Amino acid sequence: MAEECAPLRGGNMKRIAVLTSGGDGPGLNPCIRAVTRMALHLGVSVTGIQRGYAGLIANDTLELDARSVGGVLGRGGTFLGTARCPEFMTEKGRREALRTLNRLGIDGLVVIGGNGSLTGALQLHKMGFPVLGIPATIDNDVNGTDISIGVDTTLNTILDAIDRIKDTASSHQRAFLIETMGRNSGYLALVSGLSGGAELVLIPEIETPMEKVARIIEDAYIRGKAHCIILVAEGWKPGTRALVDYLKSLQAELGFEIRLTVLGHIQRGGKPSAFDRLLATRLGAAAARLMIEEGVAGKMVGWVGSEIYLTPLDEAVAFQKEISVKLRELAEIMDQ
Ligand code: ADP
Repeated sequence: MAEECAPLRGGNMKRIAVLTSGGDGPGLNPCIRAVTRMALHLGVSVTGIQRGYAGLIANDTLELDARSVGGVLGRGGTFLGTARCPEFMTEKGRREALRTLNRLGIDGLVVIGGNGSLTGALQLHKMGFPVLGIPATIDNDVNGTDISIGVDTTLNTILDAIDRIKDTASSHQRAFLIETMGRNSGYLALVSGLSGGAELVLIPEIETPMEKVARIIEDAYIRGKAHCIILVAEGWKPGTRALVDYLKSLQAELGFEIRLTVLGHIQRGGKPSAFDRLLATRLGAAAARLMIEEGVAGKMVGWVGSEIYLTPLDEAVAFQKEISVKLRELAEIMDQ
């Protein structure tokens, strides 16, 4: 296998590649742009890999010059495309990917994605290829970074929805369940609930009996609140549908009428916020510079304490980052 691996060529790179992989979200385009423009600035050519690891295996690539990343800063999604690629989970698939990288004369690869994509990046690095990862996931569950690309924009999208729903909820005296994304992580529900003034947040990390939810809704009604807003992460058990059925069966006692809004994929789309554009630009530019000038590889380029922060890829993906206890406590105090 050794002959398939490009040698580490820090300081002597001619061409790097960049791909986006896994779940999409706002801020991927500014990140691709930053990787590309910094590399070009340092005299290194850039290949864009389409559809993540699937494009790497299928040799689906395009040349990125300064103009091809023009006009993408404000566009949501990823113009390179992204994909989930089961084939890359196999040794055979990864060897195929390595063949593409070597055939194209690529000296280093920047992978932009969440925990799964960064695990893939680690596997490739273990096979001897220089790889850097950049955390991009709306769940904010990647270790080694305070925040991932996409989180800020998504929170703002949810907040906008909460504000709109509050308008209609108070006009009709209704209790609204608002379901956010987050199969394993309650970060989006918790932080948007906290900053959107929800009465309760239901997340996979905390068990909350349905009877308690009913009590909180009834209590809000008795205390004369105009509405009752409950944020529910999609991974909360027993799930929003079961909760709606249960609450509807108690309708007469609760006071408020119950309504459900599932936000779904609107949370993944939209123009990246100023914060996400800047974060993506900083991380993308740092990754390209560190790889090309200093030969850094096998690391994730994250953002800790308002600084670029490097974490070995194996540590970054060792476990899913947990929601801070302080945030959870704060949410409980504010939910009054
Ligand atoms: P995300 O990056 O958003 O967490 P996924 O978990 O779906 O998204 O991972 C994206 C892709 O990363 C997978 O489809 C696969 O190609 C690759 N990947 C995930 N886990 C591994 C792994 N353990 N080994 C190799 N590749 C992986």
